[in-house]
Order: sequence, then C-alpha cells, then structure tokens
Amino acid sequence: MYLSIDIGKSNTRVASSRDLKSIVDITKFPTSPDLTEQKKNIKESVFKVSGGEPIQSAVLGVPGIINRFSGSFFKMNLYPQLNGLAYESFLQDCLEYKEVFVENDALLAGYGEAVGGSGKEFDIVCYLTLSTGVGGCRIAHKSADPSYYFQEPGHQIILEGGRECPVCGQKGCLQAYTSGQAFEEIYKMKPEDCSDDAIWDDYAKHLACGINNLIAMWSPEIIVIGGGLSQKFDFIYASLTEQMSKMTFFPVPEIRKSAFGDESGIRGGFFAISKIIEK
Ligand SMILES: [Zn+2]
Repeated sequence: MYLSIDIGKSNTRVASSRDLKSIVDITKFPTSPDLTEQKKNIKESVFKVSGGEPIQSAVLGVPGIINRFSGSFFKMNLYPQLNGLAYESFLQDCLEYKEVFVENDALLAGYGEAVGGSGKEFDIVCYLTLSTGVGGCRIAHKSADPSYYFQEPGHQIILEGGRECPVCGQKGCLQAYTSGQAFEEIYKMKPEDCSDDAIWDDYAKHLACGINNLIAMWSPEIIVIGGGLSQKFDFIYASLTEQMSKMTFFPVPEIRKSAFGDESGIRGGFFAISKIIEK
C-alpha cells in the first residue's frame, strides 16, 4: 500500500492507494500549528487510511521551501523550528518507513494536474494555487522544471511598494493581493461568501498581472488554477481573461480550473511515487 500526505496551510489530507491511481481511503483534518500535535494527527490518520497494512512508499507534501540537495527543510513558515533540519526531524515521530519522499505541496498539486488532471493533454503546464497562500510551478513534459530553489510565483512583485506580504516580507507581491488571507483583509469578507462582481473584477486585475508575468517567463500552453479560491473560478474567469488580453502581447493561453480540486496534491503524490518506481 502507498500513502500520499498533503500538509496544506489550513488542512492536511492523508490518503492510501494500492495502484497509485485510485484512492482506497482519504481523511482530512485542520493543520495544527503545534508540530507535536500535527505529527500525532498524521500518525493516527495513516493508521486509519491504511487499516494497519504495510506501507511500501509515502510522499509528503509540505507548505514551504525544501532543500532537495541536502534533504532538509529550508523555510517552513508554519513550523520555523524545522528550518535547516533534515526531513527525519519531522518524519521520525509519524512516518517511520524506509521510503518517504518529501516535496513542496504546490509542486505535487501541479504535477497531479499536469499528469492526470486539467493539464494532462498539454506539454507545458503552469499551475497556480490560490489558497491561504499562493504557490505554483511549471511542469514541462510531465516533469517538474529544474530550478535551484523552488519556484515561488506567489512572491513575484506585481505592484512596487504595495501591500506587505506576511510570508516573504516584500511589498506588493502576488500573494499579498490574491491569497485567501489577503482577500479577507482587502475586501472584508471571505472569498467563499463573495458574489460581488465588482470585487471579483478588482481581484482578477491583480491576478492578471501575476499570470501575465508567468506567461512572459514560463510560456505555458495552459494555466491551471487550483486552491480554495478556484471554487470561485466562474466569478474570476471572464474578467481575468479580459484583463489579461489587454495586458499581454502574447496570446492568452487556455485557463482551466483544477480537475482534482482539494485532492490535486494527493493525486500528484501518488503519480510521483509511480514515476519514482518506474525509474
Ligand atoms: Zn510574498
């Protein structure tokens, strides 16, 4: 049996699979800011979804920057006490298996969408997650784009001297305007409660700036939008494409909502194990 674990900033999902395609069982719980409690919850969830069966491999998606070369956490805003420590410092109390692969959560979600979701028939996929935070990646020919540090499209500057981002500390980054947290601060309501077209037009204007930059640098065939705010895709889409067409000199590529929704990262985790096994 295989495991895919996706630690999001708000929720954690734990799922099991036998064939790396279909999910046997999945459970979800609020991500605890207390690391000890989080590990305990993961351990209990693993037992629940695996039914105690032996685990062959597991993938763990984490919200933060990891150092693949040294196998350590580089910048984990959720658990800063892990910064600079080896993966084992997290895994030792909750995932005591030989093969556990750690990856950035947005990369796994993008990989899931590129391999089996909304981007599956395209070669160059840009994935952007609009959630508690904003993240994303470029997947080319069903492989993650090589990069020295992890790609962080949410922290590109879209407005010089703009709102301060609590995560990167810069002023005017995309996340400071388009994350769920930013939405609540700017528009004084939760995105899931908002049906005001004028607000979504304003939101889409910021998003269009960020995506246009990604098109200029990443040249994708398709943009896949995931994360909690993608539930409002129908409110965003028309305004987003209209504003993008005014800004960019490239043709506006296909823009789709994620196919797997809440489970993009989980699916990406299973696809990643599949690819590792193939090698
Ligand atoms: Zn930022």
